[in-house]
Amino acid sequence: MRHLIIGASAAGISAARKIRELRPDDEITVVAKDAAVHSRCMLHHFLGGRKSAEEINFAGADFFEKNNIRFIAEEEITSVLPAENCAVGRKSGKLPYDALLITTGARFFIPPIPGFREAKNVYGLRDLSDAQKIKAAARGAKECVIVGSGLVGLDAAYALCELGIKCRVVEMEDRICPLQLDAVAAAPYQRLFEEVGCEFFLAKKAAGSEVDDGGRMRAVLLESGERLPADFVIVTAGVRPNIEFLEGSGVVTDRCVKVDDYMRTNVANIWAAGDVAGLSGIWPNAALQGETAARNICGEAVKYADRYAMKNTMNFFGLTTLSLGPNASEAGDEVLVSEWRRGYTKAVIRGGRLVHLTMQGDISNTGFWQELVKRGVKVKDSDKPLHRLSYADFWHYDESDGEYCWV
Ligand SMILES: Cc1cc2nc3c(=O)[nH]c(=O)nc-3n(C[C@H](O)[C@H](O)[C@H](O)COP(=O)(O)OP(=O)(O)OC[C@H]3O[C@@H](n4cnc5c(N)ncnc54)[C@H](O)[C@@H]3O)c2cc1C
Repeated sequence: MRHLIIGASAAGISAARKIRELRPDDEITVVAKDAAVHSRCMLHHFLGGRKSAEEINFAGADFFEKNNIRFIAEEEITSVLPAENCAVGRKSGKLPYDALLITTGARFFIPPIPGFREAKNVYGLRDLSDAQKIKAAARGAKECVIVGSGLVGLDAAYALCELGIKCRVVEMEDRICPLQLDAVAAAPYQRLFEEVGCEFFLAKKAAGSEVDDGGRMRAVLLESGERLPADFVIVTAGVRPNIEFLEGSGVVTDRCVKVDDYMRTNVANIWAAGDVAGLSGIWPNAALQGETAARNICGEAVKYADRYAMKNTMNFFGLTTLSLGPNASEAGDEVLVSEWRRGYTKAVIRGGRLVHLTMQGDISNTGFWQELVKRGVKVKDSDKPLHRLSYADFWHYDESDGEYCWV
């Protein structure tokens, strides 16, 4: 059987590894636009100079050779022709398959702010080639503007501060990393970044730019009227799934590729996994989806069980935070907060169930909290502070409706 995998990242590599394990003699080809396998999560280490490109190769230098997998690097798939059982590569032409797995992930998005899409020195950060361009731009530079203070924006700021570049970070919300952090949890990170020279412009919008005659952006202009000078600009304003090459293939997409519980698309012999399937935007889930797809391709019938999108751990300057479930409270939610010597914990309870948890400082006992949020475990009054709760406190069976709850 011939397996063709498009994409060589979290989902693609874990799928290739699993297929090889289950089918020692099958033919496996992995195609990617990337020149080399690398972890997106470690790009800031590359950017900041702590790790080389080789050191962020999470598969291992000899992965393809050792597993007898053909790797076609720096190749772009431009279309898929299910009637002919092949995908078409820009350089390779038709690549035949018996099973096709799409793991093309996503790319950064530059919003249509005047000058942003045209200027030569505006960058996104999604893959190694982006990090290489930013690294080159940073050479000899003194200052930059980063638009967006989510995890990717903070990763970039962290790395560039390490290189001694003055970073000015613009964020529409009133706190940094707003998807994961509330105001209390965001404040210590902001302080830590400010201590190394980073400046934040919160509740502000980038609205324009100054671009010189050579096509280089010299400043970002905020709606509030401020002018932020920059030798280069990084935009971290969200991503778009890589699905354009599927046009005309019959594979159903809306914003992402539509898959069922088995990671199958609507077209026979075509599966999809990872960020391109839109079930999640984090590395461990992409890898698990890749593995699940691989097992189904090899004839098992395994459902992707963890459709649980929101889980993040961050660590900047040694301060760790775990964020589980969407960090937004609605009218009627109960919000429990526990501030203590070694950290801060916040739980959001909606309709009697735990829907979000932030844990900063000491994040031990993570598995316990993950279970509670993932299962939407019922919560009953507890007079213990949040950070003292453990399995012993919640693993009670409520006979009235047959569910486990925290008492
Ligand atoms: C800077 C940064 C930091 C991150 N930090 C974290 C973190 O700390 N924790 C976490 O859980 N997640 C993090 N993420 C998210 C995580 O990296 C993604 O969820 C994960 O990479 C998704 O993997 P994937 O395999 O679905 O797709 P991607 O990693 O997007 O890879 C897509 C692959 O498809 C290839 N490709 C795309 N289009 C084509 C085409 N037409 N033809 C051929 N090949 C193609 C690409 O070359 C690439 O190999 C971070 C992301 C970024 C950008």
